[in-house]
Order: sequence, then structure tokens, then C-alpha cells
Amino acid sequence: MSAKSVLALIPGQPTQDGNRVPLTRLVPGQGQGGAEAFRAMDPFLLMDHFGPMVLPPGTDAGFPPHPHRGFQTLTYLIQGAFRHRDSTGGSGLLRPGGAQLMNAGAGIVHAEMPVPEHLETGGAIEGVQLWINLPRAQKGSAPGYTDLQPETMPWQPVGGGRIRVLAGTWAGLTGPAQTPARIAYAHLELAAGARFAADVPAGWTTAVVPLHGSVRVGDRLVPADTVALLGEGESLALTAETPVSLMLLAGEPLREPIAHYGPFVMNTREEIEQAIQDYQEGRMGFLD
Ligand code: MN
Repeated sequence: MSAKSVLALIPGQPTQDGNRVPLTRLVPGQGQGGAEAFRAMDPFLLMDHFGPMVLPPGTDAGFPPHPHRGFQTLTYLIQGAFRHRDSTGGSGLLRPGGAQLMNAGAGIVHAEMPVPEHLETGGAIEGVQLWINLPRAQKGSAPGYTDLQPETMPWQPVGGGRIRVLAGTWAGLTGPAQTPARIAYAHLELAAGARFAADVPAGWTTAVVPLHGSVRVGDRLVPADTVALLGEGESLALTAETPVSLMLLAGEPLREPIAHYGPFVMNTREEIEQAIQDYQEGRMGFLD
């Protein structure tokens, strides 16, 4: 078995999205890291680390209604609470340690906003939203969403720390999120000096993304809010340089053409134009 080494370190870009939500954009987009880095993350399209931040009382910070088509979002909450609503009638409360898998498929309009308790008192919020591409054959699938409550993916002990597997398999543990793209996704926390190793299917895109603290992969130090894209090999091995909280990301590339415009990710420009028109004419539904 050969261990993967670091192919590229891609620093996250601090930015804002929605209504004044500060976040770090991790999976490189067309601007940051360039088109080549974006393609190297296939089947992942975007990863945002939002917060940690303290929402002031009465805030309207959040993500008001907006559309998506052609991919899935997997939103994982570390601190705070968020209320999701969508145009299929879906609604749910995100709690720390829980997640929500939304299939935008043929089109959806959704909103993610603080809960009333946050609006009254303010409070801390932190989480990670991952965009996972859909294979061409699934881009027209029925939209909808699945609540993944914390109880369905509890922390499990690993040497020197703990792991929560959201999707696929890491270190023999399997998570509840089911996606057409084959992925493995987990949150790992380690004490300083702890080592973690796991097998990864050959040929899968693999990345280590520290949210807090730093890790060493081979001879490279990976700081917080940085994507360490790993190269070929069948296993991953890392050592916590400090106490660390990180996301483990692996997926089988789809190797299909990507046309990306804002909230829509399709295969061709014509399909993007159709998506814009369908949204403007109300064919992705409404949210009041
Ligand atoms: Mn959204």
C-alpha cells in the first residue's frame, strides 16, 4: 500500500455569501486555484466553512430564498442552529452534529436562516456546506432533502481522537448520507501528536481540510482553512501538529463536462441558459 502525498495546498478564500454570512471558500472555484484545481476536485464543486461567528441579536444574516439545479448540497452544522425550508415543502432544523442533504436535481428554491432563539439572543454558529455534483443522468432528478440527525452519525473513537462519518466509509465506519456520486466524507478531531490512517479507493479525489489547527501529511504542513489535495495512492496518513478539527473528503470523479453559473451546475451552456429561464419563469417553485 502506498500512502498519498500532497499534490497541492490551496488556501481558502475569505468571502461573504447570502445575507452577510462570513465564510471561507475552500474547494477552489474558477478564480481561486484556477480551472485546473477546480477540475481536480471532481466530483466536489464547492466547500464553504461558515463561521465560527457570533450572530448578533435580531440579525437577518443567513441565506434567504435562492435556487439551485444540477447538484446536491450537504450542510453540516458544528455550532448553533439553522432552519431549512424549500419549495418542495421540505423543512427541518439543523442542530450541532447534524446535517442536511439536499438534492437540487431538476430545480429547487431553498432558504437557510437562523432560528428565532438566535434572533432574540444572538449566538455562535459554525458549519460546512459541501456541493457534490450529480452525474448527467441525475441532473433532472426529483428535488428534495433528507435530514441527517446527529443520532444517525454519532462520534466514534479513533486513536487520539474521534470521527463522525457523514457519507461513505472512513476507517471501517459508514455514514448515512446517500449520494449518486460515490463519496466518503467525515469530520475528524485529533489531539496534538495523534496519528490517523485510512484506506481510500484508488483513483478517488482525496483531500484533507483542517478547519482549526494543522496537520502534517508526509513532509507537508497543512494549516487551517486550506485544502490539501492528495495524489495517487491507496491510503491516507496524517499526524496532528496541534489539536485539530478537520474534514476528510474523498470521491470518485464523474469526468463529465461542467458548465457552472452561480447556483446552477450543468453539463452545457445551453442547459445553464435553460436553468436561468426556468427559474425566472417559476418552474423551480416558490418559497414565501
Ligand atoms: Mn443554497
